[in-house]
Amino acid sequence: MTLRAVIYARVSKPGEKSVNDQEKVGRRDLAEIGAEVVAVFTDKQSASRYRRVELRPGFVKTQEFIRSGEADLLWSFAANRAHRDLDDYILLRRLCIETGTLWRYGRRTYDLSVAADRRATNADAVRAEEFGDDLSEAVLRGMREAREDGRAHGKLHRGYRIVRDATSGRPIRREAIPEQAAVIREAARRALQRESMYSITRDLEQRWRAAGGEGLWTPEQVRNLLVSPTIAALRTHEGKVIRDGKWEAIISVDDHEKLHAMLTDPSRRTHRGSDPAYWLSYIAVCGVCGKPLSPKKELPRRPKSVPQYRCITGHVSRAVDLVDSVVEPALLRLLGTREAQAKLSIPAEGAGPSLEDSLAEKARLQDGLLEWVREAARNGISAALVKAYEAEVNSKIAEIDARVRAGAADPLLADLAGPGVEGRWELMGLLDRREVARAIVRVVVQPVRWTKEPVGVEIYPAGVFE
Ligand SMILES: [Zn+2]
Repeated sequence: MTLRAVIYARVSKPGEKSVNDQEKVGRRDLAEIGAEVVAVFTDKQSASRYRRVELRPGFVKTQEFIRSGEADLLWSFAANRAHRDLDDYILLRRLCIETGTLWRYGRRTYDLSVAADRRATNADAVRAEEFGDDLSEAVLRGMREAREDGRAHGKLHRGYRIVRDATSGRPIRREAIPEQAAVIREAARRALQRESMYSITRDLEQRWRAAGGEGLWTPEQVRNLLVSPTIAALRTHEGKVIRDGKWEAIISVDDHEKLHAMLTDPSRRTHRGSDPAYWLSYIAVCGVCGKPLSPKKELPRRPKSVPQYRCITGHVSRAVDLVDSVVEPALLRLLGTREAQAKLSIPAEGAGPSLEDSLAEKARLQDGLLEWVREAARNGISAALVKAYEAEVNSKIAEIDARVRAGAADPLLADLAGPGVEGRWELMGLLDRREVARAIVRVVVQPVRWTKEPVGVEIYPAGVFE
């Protein structure tokens, strides 16, 4: 006997898989198990938890159709497509039990008259209500399909934005943000001319911010950006380029290959050439003209001279050791309290959240999960174990989502702040220490008359501490 299947597809918020796509997936899945699609019902509007069922005509029609005995099986994209909360679930469950209708989602068919299947759907329903979010199956399926046809998925790369359909809000494609792409191309051009990552990073930061660029802009981050295959519109899987992507390239494949070779050379260090030797050079500013202070090394012929921070116009000059020895304890005091820890772990309003980093982490988790599930299938690992692992990864993904929604705190500062800051500071490299100083203090070096104001260094809390 051929199973008669009814498909119920629903989109409740922008960015979800369209009802047409859900239907397509459903038809394919049902064809694989030899079922015949006899009806498709859809709902496109938002189904908030507090809305009445009557506001979803597709849902109501699905129920009527099932009740009339014209279907043997209900298909939905994921459990939470068919019901948003437990009340809906109870309705569907009763309906399926009373009419002897099977329910299929996530490539599994459930017979709700069987206790084990009821337990499984119950668990999914609770999870769907808790997260109000796609189940991992749906995420994995979407990613697999995206990978198959070369579309971008998951991680939204720096320099790109999502173009959405004006009416449905559904993402159509990704395109380069012209102003940011120009900064990236400039960085690439200079890197190809062997300019140091540090000086490229420093020179382009202002333009990057002016172009609406967010997230950390450190030599390490810029290097990662320049070697990323995404900006050459190359799609990767497991770190290998597998095919041309379908989005817009910012740099040519040729340049990508050169940059990759240059910047991933293990003998290359980001600290080299004109990288700063001193903590606060170009961060501390002159009290007279406000210009960043440049480093001035000790003079080889004058053994008693010491390295200085100095204004290029000559307004001020101060010994590096002296300035650092004043700023360091002040900065650590600022960071060392529980209040600072709380403040930095909670997102600051207006502080650029490193959205890309969070999304990249999420994409890594999703990719890892996909691999793990594939591996598990090959090795015959039990479904229960797969489910447990999926649940764990999904809860991590949910945490990241929450962080992204709230606007993530700077991870560098969040990790550093709190009691015991000194120990963590000791382990930190110069570039990270510079990032920290840049983020939370403003250091002003004033002219001094030696007798009265021997230091003349003013330290103002900045950023989130302002
Ligand atoms: Zn000056």
